[in-house]
Amino acid sequence: MRCTEVCPTGALRSIPKEKSAIMRFVSMGLAVVDEALCISFLGRMCGLCRDACPYPGDAIKLTSWARPIIVEQRCVGCGLCVEICPQQPTAIRIDTTERRVV
Ligand code: SF4
Ligand code: SF4
Repeated sequence: MRCTEVCPTGALRSIPKEKSAIMRFVSMGLAVVDEALCISFLGRMCGLCRDACPYPGDAIKLTSWARPIIVEQRCVGCGLCVEICPQQPTAIRIDTTERRVV
């Protein structure tokens, strides 16, 4: 939260470092899964994106065959799921146009 202390325009504000506050107020984008590229949707179990997520079970859940489902109201758009995805191009991306109004 140091950036909130030095921001010259006041565009940033500090929030509590608690999971509930972060998921409520942080909205950098929304993770989106491309089922045509995702290994789990193609029939082999993966699920690495859920393991990389700081909020597994909240922001991203796995259904049968470890298929990822994004929970729109919980995903903060951090992109850790994108970094871990083994597919090229990645089967999960961040849509920065889909930001929650907080
Ligand atoms: S963008 Fe971040 S919070 Fe959202 S599903 Fe991916 S790892 Fe989880
Ligand atoms: S890491 Fe990529 S390929 Fe693996 S389940 Fe997640 S989106 Fe699919």
